[in-house]
Formats: sequence, structure tokens, C-alpha cells
Amino acid sequence: MRNEGILVLAANKITEHCGLPIPTEQSDLMVSLRIGMAMGASPAVEAETLLQSAETALLSAAVDDNSYAIFSAEQLARVSESMRLENDLEAAINNKEFEFHYQPKISAGDFKPCGAEALIRWRHPKRGLVSPDLFIPLADRTGRMEPLTAFVLNTTFRQAAEWPSEISLSINLSPRMLSSSELVELISLSLATWNFDPTRVFIEITEGALITDPESSYSLLSQLRKLGIQISIDDFGTGYSSLAYFKNIPADELKIDKSFVLNMFDDEGDKRIVRTILKLSKEFGLKVTAEGVEDERTALMLVQLGCDRLQGYHYSKPLAHPDFLAWLAEKH
Ligand code: C2E
Ligand code: CA
Ligand code: CA
Repeated sequence: MRNEGILVLAANKITEHCGLPIPTEQSDLMVSLRIGMAMGASPAVEAETLLQSAETALLSAAVDDNSYAIFSAEQLARVSESMRLENDLEAAINNKEFEFHYQPKISAGDFKPCGAEALIRWRHPKRGLVSPDLFIPLADRTGRMEPLTAFVLNTTFRQAAEWPSEISLSINLSPRMLSSSELVELISLSLATWNFDPTRVFIEITEGALITDPESSYSLLSQLRKLGIQISIDDFGTGYSSLAYFKNIPADELKIDKSFVLNMFDDEGDKRIVRTILKLSKEFGLKVTAEGVEDERTALMLVQLGCDRLQGYHYSKPLAHPDFLAWLAEKH
């Protein structure tokens, strides 16, 4: 069915009929009714998806206290797409269709590379490279973060073991993993497998992860720090950053979010935010990396303000591992 009007008509008719009292011996019975509907935009939409969408519409009718709700063809197309990607993701984890691109971190002292951040890519057999912004949230929602994290750790430790020892490795960790009881063991085991020095590892975690359940996440991060791993707070400045939070923060480094860095040369407000983050970090003994450094003048301004490390397209885009090795060799 393609016409929403017909669905509305049908829903009204059914509601009208069911709205009439049903006489019984004792009293009249009233039936209350809610309807959830979905429309398939193409014959390719599977019956199961259609039924699930109708159920979602039913829920939304109940939440909004309406007698009916329709899951539109566009919404359905989005759901079908996400379900397809979800199925593909399952296969991708089994087939190890992921690779890592490494983006250098530059020391502000001598402008030499001091580390690199591993950024995951999904080489999809049909779609080509899929961005992590698309599939990481999906893996998170569908409970596939643990096997994916195990893969991230094993692959990046193995590859980084080939780098010069002064180059550190930064890994992004999904906030969900902070509540995994397996995490510390998973990390220790991968480190031991690849004989990788924990003091060369930075674990990047967003601020939001620390706010949901500060007590258990603080304790977990402290355990990681006891192993020698450094903790880096990612996308700093975009979430909740109260001063109290600084007091006990179990971190070694803050990464200023690129949204403040990209325009800081021209935008006085952004520059003030960057300057404030830097002052505060120094006060609490934290190192600072600025991400999103796209030009020389921004880099120089950051160094002048006391930033410790720089990362961004000005130095290099994230590079496939062989290209990163070549880049490093050239800089040494
Ligand atoms: P993020 O950790 O904030 O990573 C920085 C993003 O900014 C990367 O996008 C990077 O390619 C991009 N970027 C770097 N330099 C510049 C620059 O100078 N200008 C601009 N405009 N952008 C720059 P990417 O690679 O698409 O990654 C997106 C996000 O996906 C990451 O954001 C991170 O949150 C997540 N992610 C990546 N790899 C992993 C992983 O292995 N595990 C988990 N859980 N998340 C990951
Ligand atoms: Ca990051
Ligand atoms: Ca970031």
C-alpha cells in the first residue's frame, strides 16, 4: 500500500467500529484500541521488517496517546538499511573486514611524531570503506562491542609493535566497554600476546562515559593506569565538564575537541575556550593534545598557548598502516 491517506481512512473506520459499546448481560463493554501501521516502499521490504515497524508505530501511538500511528516509508527505508548493515556487521566481525588507519600525533616541543591514533575502518565488500561514525554506534547498540574491541586491541598492538619505541599508540574505547568486567583482562591478555609495552598505550575515552557511572568507570580507569596505560579524555569540552570533575579525574591527557580548534584562529570565543582548557589542565598536571589542526598558524598559536601535542590534517590524514610506516620512516 503506498497511500498514507488510505491507511488513515482504514484506521478511522476500525476505531469508529470498535468505539461502539458491546452490550453484555451486566453492562456495556467498552473496547479501547490503538493501531500501529507501516508502509513498504518497495517489494524488497521484508514482511518481518514491516511487522516490526508496525509494532514500533504502535508503541509511538501509545506514548503519544493517539489512536493510531504510521511508520512512514522513509522511516522504514532507514530501518531496513540499518538492519542490512547490522547483518553485514555480524559477518564483518567474523570475517575481520576491518582495518586501521593511523593518524600521527606531533610533539609541540620539537614538532616530531610522538604517537599515532588508531582509527578503525570497515572495508565493506560492496560499499567500500564505511566510516566508524556509522558502524560503531550500531555495534554498541547491538551488543557487538566486545568482540570488536578484542579485534581492535589485537590488531593495533600487533601493528604498533613494528614502530619505533618512542611512538605511542592511542586507541578509542567505546564508553560501553567501561562497564565490561572483561576489559582489564582483555587488554592485559592482548598486551602479553604481542609483548607490547603498556606505557606506550593511550586509551581514549569520551567525557560522557565518565558521567553515566563515575564510580565504576573511575575504578576501571585506575586499574588500567596501574598497568601503566595512559588515559586520554577525548572530545574534551563538548560534554559536561564541571570543575569538581577535574579534581579526581583518572587521566593523563585531555584532547581538545576539533570543533574548538578548527576555527580558533578567527574565532575569539573558541580561542578563549582552548586557552581556558590549557590553563586548567596545567593546574591539574594533565597533558593536552589538540585535534583538528589543519594549518600552520593554528599549530603555532596552540604551541604558544602551551599545548603539548598536535594532531590534524596539517601534519597528516589518518594513513593505512603501510603508508603510516613510510611516513614515519621519512620523518625520522
Ligand atoms: P575521534 O576519536 O574524535 O577521531 C577524530 C576524527 O577526526 C577522525 O574521524 C579523524 O579522521 C578526524 N580528523 C582528524 N584530523 C582532522 C582534521 O584536521 N580536521 C578534521 N575536520 N577532521 C580530522 P574518523 O576516523 O572518521 O573517526 C570518527 C570517530 O569514530 C572517532 O572520533 C572515534 O570516536 C570513532 N572511532 C574510530 N575508531 C574507533 C575504534 O577503533 N573504536 C571505537 N570505539 N571508536 C572508534
Ligand atoms: Ca579519538
Ligand atoms: Ca576527538
